[in-house]
Amino acid sequence: MDLQHWLGRADDAIQQWADTFGPYERHPSLLVEDDRFAAAFEEFTGRLKDNYPFFHPHYAGQMLKPPHPAAVVGYLTAMLINPNNHALDGGPATARMEREAVAQLAAMFGYDTHLGHLTTSGTIANLEALFVARELHPGLGIAYSADAHYTHGRMCRVLGMDGHAVPTDDLGRMDLDALEDLLRGGRVGTVVLTTGTTGLGAVDPVHEALRLKERYGVRLHVDAAYGGFFTLLAGGEGPESLAPEPWRAIARCDSVVVDPHKHGLQPYGCGAVLFRDPEVGRFYLHDSPYTYFTSTELHLGEISLECSRAGASAAALWLTFQLLAPTPDGLGRVLAAGRRAALRWAELIGASDALELYQQPELDIVTYFPAVDPARLTAVDAASARVLADGMSGPDPVFLSTLKADREAFTARHPKVTADAEGARILRSVLMKPESEHYVERLHDRIERLTQALAQE
Ligand SMILES: *Cc1c(COP(=O)(O)O)cnc(C)c1O
Repeated sequence: MDLQHWLGRADDAIQQWADTFGPYERHPSLLVEDDRFAAAFEEFTGRLKDNYPFFHPHYAGQMLKPPHPAAVVGYLTAMLINPNNHALDGGPATARMEREAVAQLAAMFGYDTHLGHLTTSGTIANLEALFVARELHPGLGIAYSADAHYTHGRMCRVLGMDGHAVPTDDLGRMDLDALEDLLRGGRVGTVVLTTGTTGLGAVDPVHEALRLKERYGVRLHVDAAYGGFFTLLAGGEGPESLAPEPWRAIARCDSVVVDPHKHGLQPYGCGAVLFRDPEVGRFYLHDSPYTYFTSTELHLGEISLECSRAGASAAALWLTFQLLAPTPDGLGRVLAAGRRAALRWAELIGASDALELYQQPELDIVTYFPAVDPARLTAVDAASARVLADGMSGPDPVFLSTLKADREAFTARHPKVTADAEGARILRSVLMKPESEHYVERLHDRIERLTQALAQE
């Protein structure tokens, strides 16, 4: 795809459509001379250089990468019209694209019925799921694992609900025995299960939690903001395939959140929430005196907490899904490559004297730390911080991220390391670009050399 060509075509297409409405004059207050624009643009693009190279496989840090060119063209083309997906009056075409793209997400999770919409982010999508949970179980709290995204605790405060953090096992998954102890107390109405924690990529055992749904009458919400698209690898063939049970069980949970702006190749501003029971739409009921006049069909704004939302986000997702559908042989191939990269790197780290694997990657997040002697948490922490900093400076850079592991979590995995501090930073790499598959050897060599250089100081 030649981006320049298609951006030109985008401008043409929208101009042709605009021309069908007859000529009008732009107001002089909006006119900008080309040479003034050139100067501002020069400064602007100069300032944008202050960024990390998210696109490059030597960036192996956080969950960041540019959108697919199809998403860029979809977004910018629709943005020239700037529809607002709050209501059908704000842009019928992109509202329909949103419904179609959301239906594809529902099919991906195996939902036979659904009510759902896009949101600005995973945080807002989870807030909506917790809001509906509160309406259905007033007075009861929310349980989530200690490794769940930090926004669950925060949103419980926003909603005036009690949040309960449940301990995790030594792979970072929710401990269901601890959860059951909590549920016996009768103060929890909804359990949040995370399929792919943001830190480690650990997958909570959703299939085993299902029995608690009946026994304690709780709702189950799945936070798949990061991990959701990995459901495309569940029960597949190659080495990258995942045990299907937790992923198939999502279809039997009450709601699920996924972030197309993480593994769905989209620009920021694209989360999604899906409810299995469309009847929960009643909790959103409100009247808007300004909108909802062109159709008696349910407007998206009538089933979401947010008001204005970019129709361009839906356009970008819809166009991307035409080309890389959320199916195993579409988008699944992109995730498979990242997953294979993580497995390969884990193998290399396992065979290395310089590095140690923190734990085996479940999805595409690799966590590791420099082997230090004597093995103490303070030394692991200092060495990880140095590798992070040294990696970014100098020629042949490499960009990583760190994760704070607390002492219990660390020593559960590595009992031989002396716990001389509350915890330690370890290194963390999200391999979400398919290009990583052919780059992990280089990454690994580079980080091994950085670690060996430290040992020689
Ligand atoms: C990223 C993430 C969120 C928050 O989503 P945003 O889109 O960043 O608001 C919530 N839960 C999990 C598991 C995530 O990885």
